[in-house]
Amino acid sequence: MVKQTIQIFARVKPTARKQQQGIYSIDEDEKLIPSLEIILPRDLADGFVNNKRESYKFKFQRIFDQDANQETIFENIAKPVAESVLAGYNGTIFAYGQTGSGKTFTITGGAERYSDRGIIPRTLSYIFEQLQKDTSKIYTTHISYLEIYNECGYDLLDPRHEASSLEDLPKVTILEDPDQNIHLKNLSLHQATTEEEALNLLFLGDTNRMIAETPMNQASTRSHCIFTIHLSSKEPGSATVRHAKLHLVDLAGSERVAKTGVGGQLLTEAKYINLSLHYLEQVIIALSEKHRSHIPYRNSMMTSVLRDSLGGNCMTTMIATLSLEKRNIDESISTCRFAQRVALIKNEAVLNEEIDPRLMIIRLQKEIQELKDELAIVTGEQRPEALTEAELLQLEKLITSFLEDQDPESRLEVGADMRKIHHCFHHLKKLLNDKKTQGKSTVSSEIKDQDGQEPLKEEEYKKLRDILQQRDNEINILVNMLKKEKKKAQDALHLSSVDRNEFRHSQSSPGNPEGPRTSSSASTQVQDASTFGYRSTLLQRKTGMREEMSLGRQEAFEIFKRDHADSVTIADNKQILKQRFSEAKALGENINEARSKIGRLKEEITQRHLQQVALGISENMAEPLVPDLLEEKLRSQLEEEKRRYKTMFIRLKALKVEIEHLQLLMDKAKVKLQKEFEAWWAEEATNLQVNSPAVKSLSHMKPFPQTPGSQHQRSPLLSNKSDMNAGKILPSSCPILHSQEQNRTSASLDDSLPARPTSSIPLTGDSQTDSDILAFIKARQSILQKKCFQ
Ligand code: ADP
Ligand code: MG
Repeated sequence: MVKQTIQIFARVKPTARKQQQGIYSIDEDEKLIPSLEIILPRDLADGFVNNKRESYKFKFQRIFDQDANQETIFENIAKPVAESVLAGYNGTIFAYGQTGSGKTFTITGGAERYSDRGIIPRTLSYIFEQLQKDTSKIYTTHISYLEIYNECGYDLLDPRHEASSLEDLPKVTILEDPDQNIHLKNLSLHQATTEEEALNLLFLGDTNRMIAETPMNQASTRSHCIFTIHLSSKEPGSATVRHAKLHLVDLAGSERVAKTGVGGQLLTEAKYINLSLHYLEQVIIALSEKHRSHIPYRNSMMTSVLRDSLGGNCMTTMIATLSLEKRNIDESISTCRFAQRVALIKNEAVLNEEIDPRLMIIRLQKEIQELKDELAIVTGEQRPEALTEAELLQLEKLITSFLEDQDPESRLEVGADMRKIHHCFHHLKKLLNDKKTQGKSTVSSEIKDQDGQEPLKEEEYKKLRDILQQRDNEINILVNMLKKEKKKAQDALHLSSVDRNEFRHSQSSPGNPEGPRTSSSASTQVQDASTFGYRSTLLQRKTGMREEMSLGRQEAFEIFKRDHADSVTIADNKQILKQRFSEAKALGENINEARSKIGRLKEEITQRHLQQVALGISENMAEPLVPDLLEEKLRSQLEEEKRRYKTMFIRLKALKVEIEHLQLLMDKAKVKLQKEFEAWWAEEATNLQVNSPAVKSLSHMKPFPQTPGSQHQRSPLLSNKSDMNAGKILPSSCPILHSQEQNRTSASLDDSLPARPTSSIPLTGDSQTDSDILAFIKARQSILQKKCFQ
């Protein structure tokens, strides 16, 4: 058992503006325990809290400042947890902080760069790498992905459901067994045998989550997401199985509503916007207080699911994410205070070992029988009657299966009944004798047959030989045809899918560079086909709507896409992907070259060796007196080549993971784009219906796609706090909506343009810029008009 308090870490998100410095500092005390000091600016110190403190100090295990990268976070926070999970303990890492403070960035990763991948993909990579290394155990890995929104659980990985809203996803409910163990009904577990498969599941869940989100539910900030890796391990032949779970949790935004007291003064007590975080806090408080017998886990789904992670059998780690800007000071202090409480909770992690019940039953049945037999011998129990017909038949059956059983360890279990034992011996003897006589007779009849047979005629032999030759030729032709077909298919694939397969086919296992090429590449193909298939169906499913688009709509989509901010990211990633592909291709070629060189060197060494042996024989020497210098040189060349091969192979493998990740990022970005287009399109379609005739109504079209977030009124509670991402997904080429409030003055812009009802066109006030804007809008409208009604 390992006793450990929950580990707390802090991560400070990089601030956009430099003048935010001076708000906090990170120091270490004499025991090298780091602490974060948050300094209240003068203007805030008066109103924020009544006691007018000017700075607050919080201790953490470690504090990661703005410049800490994702690799550092993984190495210091997640790797130790992953290691204990591999050893058989449960682990949990949860990120806690206000919206926009970097929880998702830390847990899952950024949406753009490969280097920004977060704890989940890195942990998957690490775990699978370790599993591959450890051949002493049999491991099985399963993945589940749960989202909790408004006290309802949703399975993000159910493949049977097309999610277009959160309610479409299967609802997960909690069941509790008599031992108070929690079971999640309807949460699907998916086996992942490789890192790639697990990564696909992560992206599938994230994409489902994104599609299901509506501006109304704001799921990404108000829900909790729990990505769980279930790992079980067993030593070959053993009945004991170890189970460990690793929960990686992205909690809902922890922002609170500050209660305003009489006279508008802020009171210190603040309430969570998210009710389940309120219950989480209650659980934490209860756990951190000594002698509390009742812990209110059952109050919310999230605390029930994470019961073991909080004050139970688990090694738990919390990451407090902080966005230390002036306007976030109060939230940051709340986050740190929460972390200090969490740090008081002690967990007791135990190894979760379990006996496989099937193996156990077999073992017990055997034991019972043995005991019964022993008892019969000891008590000298007599069985006077003869064995019944049925018993005899049963014994003979046992003997037959005993003889057929290939296992040398198998036993003929008849118990301690001497009558049965005797019968078995008799029967075996009979069988043996029968076989002997039968053997003799068959042998003699075979001899007779052969003797009696006339020798085959010369012509018949020739005929048979010719047929054999023909069949051989046929087979060769067919094999050649097959090869050509395969090559054609590969070339076609190569052309259409940007080299991706070509680079994969060039791989085989690193430990076996000279191994038979065909078998290794065949197995790679099978695996690729499955993962590729998986990914493409995901994308097809998500972008399925696109195929049904009319031509006009498709073109509108093209324009939408071009003007969308994310298209820059997609294009950038495409560029990187291209580079990676060509690097991988070159590497693949080099690997192939190295492989054939290794083959040649081996051949040369064998030849040389044979020559030397032949020389030795001719000179009558058992061993050559001096070592053969040429052979040694060849051997060192071979070793060198093998090393080169291995280095290149490792690089290629890393590239493969990177390529896969980038492709998934791009797929996700594409689905997001599609979703935003659909929303925009639907809105325009409604506008058209309201304002027929069609052509007139076009002037009411919003000139640019709007983000879902901008279409509904943001909660006043969240404004100033959750608007960090606002405008992020607006089209970059749009000069109007860039970093500007959208609901500014509405104005009639031009005689030819009717006044806009929702005023999506803010003006700058600068007449030159405004006329540019007008020209721009006009141009866009005419394009849209053309495109939409073609
Ligand atoms: P949360 O999940 O807490 O609401 P996000 O993880 O979505 O916050 O972060 C908000 C924004 O800040 C995102 O655009 C994200 O990419 C960016 N971000 C967060 N943390 C970092 C970081 N450490 N480095 C760079 N960008 C970050
Ligand atoms: Mg988030």
